[in-house]
Amino acid sequence: MGTCPERCGVRECDAEVGTRPGRRIGALAGLTFALALLTPGASPPLVADPFEAEPTIRVCIGQGVSSFELEIDGPWTITELDKPAVLARGARFEKGEVKAVKDALQCGKTPVREKKISVIPAKDEPVRFNGAKYPGRLDVIRLSTDRLLVVNAVPMDRYVEGVIGNEIGSGSRPAALEAQAVASRTYALACMESERQSRKRQYYDVFNDTRSQVYRGVAGVDAGVRKAVAATRGQALTWKGKVFTTFFHSTCGGQTEPGKDIFGDDCPALAGGPDPWCEKAALNDWDFKVKAETLRKTLAAETGEEVGAITAIIVDEARPSGRVIRLKISHTKKPEKPLKVRAVDLRDALGPDDLKSIWFTVEKKGDDWVFHGHGWGHGVGMCQEGAKRMASKGKTCAEILRQYYPGGQVKALWK
Ligand SMILES: [Zn+2]
Repeated sequence: MGTCPERCGVRECDAEVGTRPGRRIGALAGLTFALALLTPGASPPLVADPFEAEPTIRVCIGQGVSSFELEIDGPWTITELDKPAVLARGARFEKGEVKAVKDALQCGKTPVREKKISVIPAKDEPVRFNGAKYPGRLDVIRLSTDRLLVVNAVPMDRYVEGVIGNEIGSGSRPAALEAQAVASRTYALACMESERQSRKRQYYDVFNDTRSQVYRGVAGVDAGVRKAVAATRGQALTWKGKVFTTFFHSTCGGQTEPGKDIFGDDCPALAGGPDPWCEKAALNDWDFKVKAETLRKTLAAETGEEVGAITAIIVDEARPSGRVIRLKISHTKKPEKPLKVRAVDLRDALGPDDLKSIWFTVEKKGDDWVFHGHGWGHGVGMCQEGAKRMASKGKTCAEILRQYYPGGQVKALWK
């Protein structure tokens, strides 16, 4: 498993059921860096009172799919979504297709006369969704005649187990896995609260990819991951008693960035600062070379303007860390009117896996433009490479969290 380099902000979802805050980004799954589309703003005033029981989080695992394959190796029931009445049940759900039919759903051999259902396995049997195993239940919502929304509703700590190996690497040392578990749990709670407070309620709290956190059910869950989640069970980071949005990223490059500057989140625990721990990380310094013609075409597509040969790229505005806010790009078509391009948009257009962060300088070399950059990801909150290095030097989970979320208090919210 690799690490997920980015965490952006909440962004709009295009589901027909409305819009919901999801959140970040990354390159593990090669997704778009949607950073500034819709940031979460200040951390929502979140519940930090202990829960009566472990909460269930709803993860979108299929958005707008026309059908999917379902299988359950044991007893199951189907109920109307959020209602107890049983619509169907069986001893084993033979592998079959779930799809929309006229005003209802067809679940394998079983017709169901509802548009919104929950498929609930008995005991702890996983549900197989397109062959992948998921704990908890599946909610299926018929969006239209050929579009379904599929949601995995799962106890929070099972969800965290399914996340941390994908996010920081299941082979990471215990302290790093534990810090990731606390950060991922807190992040998920922040998403749930954001969803709870949103005007357009959704059927899910988070996406299963880098728009939220990478979650693949039970894939990647091993003994080390289970141990780290159990060791931190129910623990979340709080500021003045409230959960805050615990952004994290792959590599900061030596300086984490204030959450306020990237996501408009002014929680003091996201103030950012020097990070001495990741300086030996592979992506602390990188070069990315792009052909001048490729860059020209990319800029033309991005801006919708006619763009001639690029003659100069100047950093027009940057943050104190060196992360670029805006570039001024001169070209031969309109030499008197340079293009003004936001660095986040350029990164998105060139590919966040290639232009790995907005902390860079750029120069012309022959037929190429070469970006000399630092780090991978947005730079806010925990730097995963730094966390892994701290763990390798014997630092504890608490010390890692203090480094990257200074002033944040760990609170156990359920048993
Ligand atoms: Zn770092």
